[in-house]
Amino acid sequence: MADPLAEEIVVGGITVKPGERRIIDLPITDLSTHTPMSMPVQVICGRKPGPRLFVCAGLHGDEISGVEIIRRVLKLRALRSLRGTLIAVPIVNVFGFIALSRYLPDRRDLNRSFPGTSQGSLASRLANLFIEEVVAKCTHGIDLHTAAVHRVNYPQIRANLDDPKVSEMASSFGVPVVINASLRAGSLRQAAGQLGVPVIVYEAGEALRFDELSIRAGVKGVARAMRALNMLPAGKQSPRPMDPIIARSSTWVRAPASGVLRASFELGAQVRQDAVLGVISDPFGEREVTVTSPTDGIVIGRTNLPLVYEGDGLFHIVRVEGTQVVAETLDAFIPEEDYAEGLTAELADDPLLS
Ligand SMILES: [Zn+2]
Repeated sequence: MADPLAEEIVVGGITVKPGERRIIDLPITDLSTHTPMSMPVQVICGRKPGPRLFVCAGLHGDEISGVEIIRRVLKLRALRSLRGTLIAVPIVNVFGFIALSRYLPDRRDLNRSFPGTSQGSLASRLANLFIEEVVAKCTHGIDLHTAAVHRVNYPQIRANLDDPKVSEMASSFGVPVVINASLRAGSLRQAAGQLGVPVIVYEAGEALRFDELSIRAGVKGVARAMRALNMLPAGKQSPRPMDPIIARSSTWVRAPASGVLRASFELGAQVRQDAVLGVISDPFGEREVTVTSPTDGIVIGRTNLPLVYEGDGLFHIVRVEGTQVVAETLDAFIPEEDYAEGLTAELADDPLLS
């Protein structure tokens, strides 16, 4: 028996039928200049039934790397065989995006404003629109982020691993570190969870910059997650990603003194307890204070700005045990040399990526 046809989907009052692909502008409020604002959404309705996945970026307006990830995902040739529906929302916080800011004009953080209401603050209204027009119409979601400004993150998934559906998506993404992150009040993840929509967060790179490693790992990750959900055909030769390192807790190592930081570990480095992560000195080099790791772990985030005040978060470290497995997983993700080249070749061979 032939597969039944997929169902059409209505977003922003516009019907997208099986086999159709449409860009829909969800109207928001005007700017104070009278210029109308909208949230641009692309809906791709596959010919065959399947999950309804949203992939969104720019909840924090300055975290622009996900915009490029989504642009590349939308070019995947395999989308021609899409099962189910993909809703791509490259810029959720359009106000923050044009202002190069994490926040909304009302200085609220959109990712603390979910689920929002239609009568609330600007952030609350935007959150509400996104929930009603996108999240509530989906069965799964992927939310793309980067580190905050002046910080950079090693590619990682944050997810509530106590939910089996979420946990499966998290592992399928294929990045080496998965952090079991508790749900933060007002976050998209929490609000979606309450609607029964499993959502994982991909964190990689830095605000206001494109980081090629993070972008490629993100594109591959979304494609892998979609394959795992049976939305895309299986890739023929892509090696199965290593099982990720699951981390249950992480800690920020804070500056013990103000000064100028010289960091001695890069992102993704494995560190031992008491390892010297960096040295903070005064500008004359007269007084030097070492920064040490409180635990065995992996550096999954760090500051990019060498000028620090006492108390600033310098290194974000996930606690992990089993150093052998950790080293193998990290090496598999980033070969020592010509890593960028290796990744390019892998992508070029991938039938999913044009
Ligand atoms: Zn973010």
